[in-house]
Amino acid sequence: MPVRGAPTRLGEEALLADYPFLPGAELVLGGEQPSVRGLLEEPAYERVRTIGRARVLAAQDDPRGSVAVAELAVARPDERYLSFLFARLVLSAAPGAAGLRRWAVFESKRSHERLRSAEPAELEEVAHRLGYPFESDGRSVRLSVADYVRLATPIREAEFRLARQALKDGQVTVAPPRASRLLEEAVRRALAVPLPLRPEVVGAVRERERELLDDVARRLPRPVGRSGGAGGPVAPALFPPCLRKMQRTLERGDNLSHAGRFCLAAFLHRAGASFETIVDAYRGAPDFDESVTRYQVEHITTRDGGRGYEPPNCDTLRSHGLCVRDGDPDAASAADREPDPRCFEPSLRHPLQYYRRRGGTVVAAGDDDASAPAATAASAGPGRTPSTDRRG
Ligand code: SF4
Repeated sequence: MPVRGAPTRLGEEALLADYPFLPGAELVLGGEQPSVRGLLEEPAYERVRTIGRARVLAAQDDPRGSVAVAELAVARPDERYLSFLFARLVLSAAPGAAGLRRWAVFESKRSHERLRSAEPAELEEVAHRLGYPFESDGRSVRLSVADYVRLATPIREAEFRLARQALKDGQVTVAPPRASRLLEEAVRRALAVPLPLRPEVVGAVRERERELLDDVARRLPRPVGRSGGAGGPVAPALFPPCLRKMQRTLERGDNLSHAGRFCLAAFLHRAGASFETIVDAYRGAPDFDESVTRYQVEHITTRDGGRGYEPPNCDTLRSHGLCVRDGDPDAASAADREPDPRCFEPSLRHPLQYYRRRGGTVVAAGDDDASAPAATAASAGPGRTPSTDRRG
């Protein structure tokens, strides 16, 4: 195991059982590794499979990790490691790796339970094993600006912005709690990538765990459909590229910025989506909170006697990095990777205008087809957005 530091320095078995994603974590098995087929089929691993399935389903129900997996609390280190491996194997083999990103969020938040109270030396050790050369002086942690930006960009809290960090000689110095949050993100990134599996392994997993995979598919957030609200059916296929990208981001379980969350709720409302449909659009967010989301969606959609907030215009979305008219290189569909010529028409100024031009129905048509009023178009929203910002 090409790892840094003395393997017993931090209590290797406990470390690896709590951080089963680290290279070398298989050492908790004491040299006896089951084959993939053994893990999937042998009666000796039935308890491991049960715990692994519970990990998978708990992640789909609540990626923030507030759903406790009771079996894990009493599992041996080897069972914890193998159940983790089983869950990762199954979700990597799922069609489209469905559910993997939500599970990655779930497991990274579980790891954070230990990371947040870890000594700087442990944070440094875990970071090195994940490929991020953090350095600790025992009180604080240093990392390169490039690594900081890579890990902090998806984090929404304002205190993680680079402008607010202590910078010197191309290094960022952070206190251990902030380093632990950055490591949570490093874990999420690592686990969100499917394992490279041979086709015969994918086939075996899908056959053996069909029931579990069907259950995962049922629990995934539903894409916004044609459940119309006040204005009739919603037509997501006619949405502009920026809005489709926002939906994909949430459906994948990735973070969407404050401005993006506001825009999505305001746009869906004006496109005629029902209240429940708008709330459902946020279920994939890693920090989804049902009651807070309902409160915020209500706030965004009931303004002006139900007309709701005006979604931001194209210039504003561009300034927030949310315009994808040049194409989205991360999109699965070839069409979404290509530039959209409709977005380059000189008169196009608003995503609702795009939607209407393609035949979509807009509720309470207003300022979007000419110029959005400065008070709403220039801002990114009311200051609170689904799903985590607390009221008050
Ligand atoms: S040009 Fe406007 S409608 Fe098109 S992707 Fe950009 S922000 Fe969205």
